[in-house]
Amino acid sequence: MQLLVFLGPPGVGKGTAAERIVTSLGFLWLSTGDRLREAQRSGSLFGQRVTEYMNSGRLVPDELIIELVESEIATLAPSTRLLLDGFPRTLPQAIALDENLARHANQVDLVIELQADQDELVRRIRGRSQTDGRTDDTLETLQHRLEEFHRQTAPLTEYYQSQGKLQVVDARGSLDEVFESVRLCIGEYLAVDGEDAPRHHD
Ligand code: AMP
Repeated sequence: MQLLVFLGPPGVGKGTAAERIVTSLGFLWLSTGDRLREAQRSGSLFGQRVTEYMNSGRLVPDELIIELVESEIATLAPSTRLLLDGFPRTLPQAIALDENLARHANQVDLVIELQADQDELVRRIRGRSQTDGRTDDTLETLQHRLEEFHRQTAPLTEYYQSQGKLQVVDARGSLDEVFESVRLCIGEYLAVDGEDAPRHHD
C-alpha cells in the first residue's frame, strides 16, 4: 500500500486538491469528515454521537475516529494508493496510525501540508458556506475549528518533519496552481508502482 496524508487547516482546500488527485492519479480517497457527514445523514447512533462535536467545531474523540479509519484500512488491497484527508488530526491519531500500519508492514509514505494564511481561510470558508450547505461552516464554528487545528493538529507538522516525510505546498494560488504543486510533489517524493523508492526526503 502507498499512503499519502494531506495536512492543513480547515478551508485550505484539502478536499478540492484531493478530488483532483484521486481522479488523475488513481488514489483512493478517505476523508474522515466526509465519512462522519455520511454517518450523520444515516442517522446511526455513531452519527448522532459525532454530531455535537462537529457542529460545535470540536474534534471527534480519538478512539472513535481511530476505529473508523483502522476498520477502513483493514479492507484495502495491498496495492491500494490511499489518500488520507483530515486524518490524522492529533498526535494520538498519528501514533495510532503508525502503529496500525507497522503491524501490517506498512507506513505513511508522504505527508503534504497545504498552507494559507488565516484571512484566506476565512474567505474560502465563507464562500463554501454559501454553496456546500455544511452545518459547521459558520464563522463561530470556524473559529473553534481553527483553534482546534492550532492546538491539536499543528504539532503533526513537527511529528512528520522529524520522520522526514513532510512536504509543504503553498495553497494560496488558483485551484490549478495548487493541484499542479501537489502533483509535482507526489511525482517527486512518492514512487509509482514498479519504480524505486522515493528519491529523497528533507
Ligand atoms: P473536515 O471535513 O475534515 O473539515 O471535518 C469536519 C469535522 O469532522 C471536523 O471539524 C471534526 O469535528 C470532525 N473530524 C473530521 N476528521 C476528524 C479527525 N481526524 N479527528 C477528529 N475529528 C474529525
